[in-house]
Order: sequence, then structure tokens, then C-alpha cells
Amino acid sequence: MADAYNPSPTMIIFFFFFFFVIPWATALPDEVLRQDIAGLLRTDPESTSRASVDYGNLVRETPSAVFHPTTIDDIISLIKLSNNLSTPFSVAAKGRGHSVRGQAMAAGDGVVVEMSSLDGKGRVGVRVSWNPALGFFADVGGEKTWKDVLEATLEHGLAPVSWTDYLYLTVGGTLSNGGISGQSFLHGPQISNVHELDVITGTGDFITCSKEMNSELFFAVLGGLGQFGIITRARILLHKAPSRAKWVRLIYKDFSKFTRDQEYLISLDSNGPNYVEGSLITDNSPPNNWRSSFYSSLHQSKITSLLKSNQGLLYSIELVKYYDDLTSSTIDEELVTMAKDLEFVPGFIFKKDVPVIDFLTRVAIGDNHDNSEAHPWLNLFVPKSTILDFNEAVFAQIIRRHNHTTSGPILFYPFNRIKWDDRTSAVIPEEEIFYTLGLLHSSMPDEVEIYEKLNNEILEFCEKSGMKIKQYLPHYKSKEDWVKHFGSKWDTFREMKTKFDPRMILSPGQRIFNSI
Ligand code: FAD
Repeated sequence: MADAYNPSPTMIIFFFFFFFVIPWATALPDEVLRQDIAGLLRTDPESTSRASVDYGNLVRETPSAVFHPTTIDDIISLIKLSNNLSTPFSVAAKGRGHSVRGQAMAAGDGVVVEMSSLDGKGRVGVRVSWNPALGFFADVGGEKTWKDVLEATLEHGLAPVSWTDYLYLTVGGTLSNGGISGQSFLHGPQISNVHELDVITGTGDFITCSKEMNSELFFAVLGGLGQFGIITRARILLHKAPSRAKWVRLIYKDFSKFTRDQEYLISLDSNGPNYVEGSLITDNSPPNNWRSSFYSSLHQSKITSLLKSNQGLLYSIELVKYYDDLTSSTIDEELVTMAKDLEFVPGFIFKKDVPVIDFLTRVAIGDNHDNSEAHPWLNLFVPKSTILDFNEAVFAQIIRRHNHTTSGPILFYPFNRIKWDDRTSAVIPEEEIFYTLGLLHSSMPDEVEIYEKLNNEILEFCEKSGMKIKQYLPHYKSKEDWVKHFGSKWDTFREMKTKFDPRMILSPGQRIFNSI
């Protein structure tokens, strides 16, 4: 009787490559694989599956390859190559993949560009300069994180003025959205604090742009969801870095007082705080969470007792005033003056005094997030005129009803529209003051539907009641929804796409021009 077939290790390796590796490698057309840059494409399942997940853990789209450029020219060659094919492949820049709904993914024959590969020798890095027209500024590679920017600029005693709460996000990634945090009311979002950009467009052209030079591209790219080009350098405005921060939290039982005080604080301009945010406290969104551990256990239990006596819902203002040696003798008095008319619950004011770097790096989840969790986040901008109704329906009813399922920070704080440049692609409500809601859920993957139901209930309520909300970090499934989202900006957005990415190559994961 013949022996049972027993394959040798060499045969096993051959079969593995034949059936698993080669099919991946050949998903791109031969023309691509024959080019010099082909050596920078990784088609192995480990690389492509890493590019098929993001922080949200909600969407999975596997690209045909992951591109690891070492120079700007590599990216230009890749995009030109795609343009030269009768059927172009899509190209998605990936910063840190901190999107939550596949925005940095590229399905099918698409290629994901791993921007962090650029971060080597010969690159701009973070370069601090000064000139009489702009003052101090930093030229920063689009692949750099805001943490890199902070560290490098602080060495010169300087820092950007507008941040995100969490700094392990790339400059290219946040400038493609907006980049918001508690400083935005005063300085505008990050997209309001950029002097100049280097961009590789969807046609593979390398263009330097600013408000004065190639301004169409400049404004299109800012908040442009990666649709018009890949940002390879941003020139960012810098100020003298403050050294310390008085960091204060105030607790409210009453929504009207909470928002009235937030609006008062953001009206104070340079005499007021440097940072204002706000959040809800519920049983499942406790005072301390992954975004920030601020309170001692004693203070936590004091707040928890108040929470129980207020039907499980409190509001909290977080404010910061920077100071340095010159202002250290007056800062406490300034804070007292600032807080004297505020209507928080008496005795519920909590303070810290920290180095500014500790405050700015307070959200310290690092670059390694927990892949076993999903993050079905919802981020909205809500016009001021509707916040009382929004509170009644969304906070007091919908979220309270879902309290056993909501889990994670719930942010709610205001911006001044005047600090946003209407020429950018970012979309905000048409009112002078609007609020941002950040519903930052964490969920087990098999419970995502419960959170999506909650998110949809909120969106449906806004739709039915005619509230003119806008999504931040938007995600839609249909073209009609995108057209509605952009409103009066849609025609320009589409025109810019035709001009700078006519073959619809860039950032397909946003599903704007390639939505179903
Ligand atoms: P990616 O997710 O990799 O990419 C996002 C989009 O931009 C994709 O479409 C991609 O193709 C495109 N893109 C990436 N790089 C470039 C580039 N160089 N040029 C052009 N397009 C590019 N946002 C805030 O505004 N404020 C916050 O405080 C804040 N906190 C956050 C905290 C956490 C824990 C997380 C996960 C996200 C947070 N965000 C915040 C959202 C964040 O701004 C977005 O996720 C954004 O996409 C940045 O992430 P990224 O750099 O990883 O970009």
C-alpha cells in the first residue's frame, strides 16, 4: 500500500506562497509591480490586515498593498502611476489610523500609504523658524504627531496655540478634519492656525499653497477629509510657550447655568481662560475616565453622591489659565475674578496647578489602543439656539434612558464661529456660537449595534426637530447625505475634486465620491 502523502517543509512553504502570498501580490496590475517603487509596496497579509483596521474597530477594508514611502517623490510616483492606468487604483494616506469609521482605508485594489514611513532622514521633521511677516512658526511633516510638534517646539520655548485633546494624531490627519479642543474658542481650530502647506494632489502634482498662493487648494485641503491631496508639510503658527497651567473643574446640576457660564467664559477673550471644555457626568461616564484622571478618590466620592441626588446627571466645566514667572503672583487673583460670577454648585470647584506639558499630554492612552474594543463614536456640532431642546431630548432623555449602555466620556463645549475660516472645507453650523458633542463610546465588538442605535436615535431626533446640526469627523452612506452635509459648500467641494483629484483616487474610505 502506498505511504500517506507527507509534504516536505519546502513543499509547505511553496504552497503557502502559491496560495496565500502570490494572490495578494498580484492584486495590483503588472504595470505597477514592474515600477521602481514596487519595492516599497507590501502585499503580505500581515501588512494589509494591519491597514484594514482603525481605532473605531467598526469597519474592515483590506487594501491590495501598503506603501512605505521614504521620500515625497515616492508618493508622487505612486499617484502618477495610478493616474496613468486605464482603471486607476485608489490611494489613502494613513496617519495613525485614529479614524473610527475606515476613513484612512482603501478597499479592493486600493493602496494605503503609511505616512509614518516618511519620518526619516532628509525629511522636514519639525523645524522652528522666525520671519518678520509671520513671527515664529514650525514647518512640520504631515506624518508627524502633535506630540512630536509639542516636544520639538518646547525646546525653543515655543508651542502651537491650538491643540487636540489627544496628541498621538498626525498633523496631516487632524488638518484634514479640523483639529478641535478647548483652545478652539480663542484661537480657532488647528486649521485656523496654518500659514502654508505642501500638498501632493490627486494628479500627483506637488504644490505649495497658502492664503495668498494657490489659495483654492489651501482652503480645500483644510478640513477637506483627504479628498484633494496628501499634506506633506504644514507651516504652523507658534507662540511663546506658557510654563504652567491652573487647571480647574466646576460641577453643575443645571444645564442652563452650565452653558451660560461656558458662554461667559468664552466671551472673555484674552482676559479669560486659555482653554474651556465641558462634559457630562453620568454613572457610565464617571468624573475620571481614560481622557483624564483629575480627581482624588475623596473628590470622586463627593461628586458621586451629588450625582445620585441629581438623578444621575451632572455637568462639568473644565477650564485652564496658563501662567509663567511673570504672572505667577497675580494668577490666583485672576482666577478668583474669573470665577466670581459663575454658578457652579457651591463647594464643587476643584483645582490643580501643573506644568503645561502635563496638561497638554493629559490624554495618555499612548499609541497602543486596545484592539479588542470598538469605538462607535458620534461627534456633532450643535447650534447654540437649539441646545436647551437638545439637552432635554438627548441628555435628559435619550442618554439617560440608555445609561446602562453608554460608556465613555461625553463632551459638550462651545466655539466661536468667528474663529473658523469659512473658506476652508470644514462644515460648521451657521450660528455665531455652536457646541461640540463628543460621544466617545467604548464597546465590546458584539455590542456595537446598541451604541449605533443610540447614535441613530440622536441623529433622528435632530432630523425630525429640524435642528441644523453638523457631524464632525462625518460619516455618511449616501451621496445625498454628503450633499446635505456640505450644504452651500458642496458645489465648491465637488469642483475642487474635479480640479485636484479628477480620477477620484484619494481617501476612498471617506465614501464621499465613491459612496454607494
Ligand atoms: P487617519 O485616521 O490616519 O486619517 C484620517 C483621514 O485623513 C483619512 O481620510 C486619511 O486618508 C486622511 N489623511 C491622513 N493623513 C493625511 C495627510 N497627510 N494628508 C491628507 N490626508 C491625510 N480630533 C479632534 O479634532 N480633537 C480631539 O481632541 C481628538 N481626539 C481624539 C482622541 C482619540 C483617542 C482619537 C482616536 C481620535 C481623536 N480625534 C480628535 C479625531 C482625530 O482628529 C481623527 O481621527 C483624525 O483622523 C486624525 O487621526 P490620524 O492622524 O490617525 O488620521
